[in-house]
Amino acid sequence: MLSEIVCRCEAANCSRKLTDGSCMLVFRTEGGERRAYECECGHVTVTVAAPDE
Ligand SMILES: [Zn+2]
Repeated sequence: MLSEIVCRCEAANCSRKLTDGSCMLVFRTEGGERRAYECECGHVTVTVAAPDE
């Protein structure tokens, strides 16, 4: 199943949507999958997707 999570840049004064196209890095930890997104403003936002239970 494909779930689309809409996330937004965390930088102050910026709330651009972060799309899969701006995802630079995906890695897994015990806490789940983490994705690093680079926004057009240059800020990097890291999201955590908890594993399905
Ligand atoms: Zn931004």
